[in-house]
Amino acid sequence: MVEIKFPKNLSVNIQYDSELAPFTTFKLGGKAEGIIHCATSQQLQNVVSHLNKENVGFIVIGGGSNIVVSDAGVNCFVIRYFSETPFLERQNDDVIVFGSTKLDDLVSFTIDQGLGDLSFASGIPGTVGGAIYGNAGAFGKQISEYLKSVLLITASGELKEIEAKDLCFQYRDSSLKRSKDIVLSAIFSLIPDDKDILMGQRVKILGERRKKHPDWKRERCAGSFFKNVDCGFPENKRKSAGCFLDEIGAKNLKVNGAYVFEKHANIIMADEFAKAQDIFELSSTMALLVKEKFDLKLEREVRFVGDFQGKPKECNGIIW
Ligand SMILES: Cc1cc2nc3c(=O)[nH]c(=O)nc-3n(C[C@H](O)[C@H](O)[C@H](O)COP(=O)(O)OP(=O)(O)OC[C@H]3O[C@@H](n4cnc5c(N)ncnc54)[C@H](O)[C@@H]3O)c2cc1C
Repeated sequence: MVEIKFPKNLSVNIQYDSELAPFTTFKLGGKAEGIIHCATSQQLQNVVSHLNKENVGFIVIGGGSNIVVSDAGVNCFVIRYFSETPFLERQNDDVIVFGSTKLDDLVSFTIDQGLGDLSFASGIPGTVGGAIYGNAGAFGKQISEYLKSVLLITASGELKEIEAKDLCFQYRDSSLKRSKDIVLSAIFSLIPDDKDILMGQRVKILGERRKKHPDWKRERCAGSFFKNVDCGFPENKRKSAGCFLDEIGAKNLKVNGAYVFEKHANIIMADEFAKAQDIFELSSTMALLVKEKFDLKLEREVRFVGDFQGKPKECNGIIW
């Protein structure tokens, strides 16, 4: 086991040889060499620069709501950039927020400030950093549409401030998936709006989500597993992956403790006995059956972390 000596003044909270499962919404996954908890942008910068100095490899997670961590865990350190306390500041009609802040806390704050309109993102679990990485969205809108700029830290510790357009956003995609840069903080550009109307929209959206999605605080899942499918329509008119999955009878599929949510064929659930490998195998079967029936390659939205039996050779990163 690698022990890292952090200078005392950094006051870093590190759990050596610890399970990642509690830090994911699937509640699955083996150990990391160490989990380093960072809430503020300064802590994250200090930790990244120290890990670089010590030549220690690491990956970053946020709320763990869009990942499946391997049962074998990962042979590296994991920085968990997450904060229960929101770090936000209004400057005119912009809001500056740390990547560790929960996305839903950002939504609440902007509504409270009478700034529109991130209400579509109400109830999406995870952090602002994770949402920017995957260009999170719902109800035809995506987080990138409101993002002005981000402050990134590269894996080697260099700081970069870049405009949103330079992250090459697409549907559930950004260049962060390839660059491995980390979102330290972000600036959202918003428009003054009626607080009561915004709050009304939030309440409606939270109600819709309660009807259609599992309650991730009690039920183990990572939301939609596959991206909706581009059938040649404009981006926000993609065809739901769930329609294709319904056609192949996904709701009746099961691999040990992994099964499909009864209200939504694109959501994989884990029971108390499930292994991460079960999720991998069930998702592979779902994708294969859609390929066979529709000659369509479903793309994953959820990221796998670490090694799985049957992992495709071309997927060589720790996060893939
Ligand atoms: C019940 C449920 C409903 C959901 N509904 C939606 C929905 O409507 N729309 C939607 O888009 N998603 C949805 N999701 C998926 C998930 O909540 C989002 O993708 C979320 O934005 C992931 O954020 P996270 O912090 O949890 O990321 P994690 O799962 O922790 O990480 C995901 C990826 O982001 C990277 N990452 C995390 N933080 C950073 C950072 N600071 N800088 C750079 N990279 C980072 C990680 O390396 C990893 O590759 C849902 C999930 C659940 C469980």
